[in-house]
Amino acid sequence: MSTQHNVILLGGPGAGKGTQAERIVAEFGLPHISTGEMLRAAVAKGTRMGLEAQDYMQSGALVPDEVVIGVVRERLAEPDAAEGFLLDGFPRTIAQAEQLDAMLTEAGRKVTHVVLIDVPAEELVQRIAGRRSCSQCGKLYNVTFDPPKADGVCDLDGAELVQRADDNEDTVRNRIGVYEDQTAPLIGYYAERGVLESAFGGGKLPDEVYAQVQQILAG
Ligand SMILES: [Zn+2]
Repeated sequence: MSTQHNVILLGGPGAGKGTQAERIVAEFGLPHISTGEMLRAAVAKGTRMGLEAQDYMQSGALVPDEVVIGVVRERLAEPDAAEGFLLDGFPRTIAQAEQLDAMLTEAGRKVTHVVLIDVPAEELVQRIAGRRSCSQCGKLYNVTFDPPKADGVCDLDGAELVQRADDNEDTVRNRIGVYEDQTAPLIGYYAERGVLESAFGGGKLPDEVYAQVQQILAG
């Protein structure tokens, strides 16, 4: 059997997880399995778990653990995940992590790498609270990291730049708090199992972070 890459990606809001996920998937040929997309796909395919998830999603309720786990189980059983996967947004709790371990063990597999994109909370706040987009063309800016040429207006069309309502500093601090509370136990769980690795993203460009990710996945 070839070396498997059964990878979990962890990182706070604004840590650049999406960019890293895209690159990992492209280089290592892994299916990118994100919980949100997975639930929507299961619903679209009308699988048993998908139909169950749909009931919760339509009523606006949180999809319970056993349903999310069922959807992950179905997805990991598909042929393209047989030699590896990149999990994103799952597990979120120790209970989910234990269930994942149990289902992989049944299949004679295990989690091989847990990659944490580690960015200090203060920088995450700066990154997200600094996001702006053009009200006209939608082009994205960051007042700290990628500012427009003239304050508050788009380089391309001179239209006003706006901030998403949930990108204000208070909301961002809340989201980061929730992420940290949720993730800290998982970090401990995977560190104990010897599979946790950190890529330091503070003040780093996506290329510099990815160089670290490559080293982790090569090991
Ligand atoms: Zn514009």
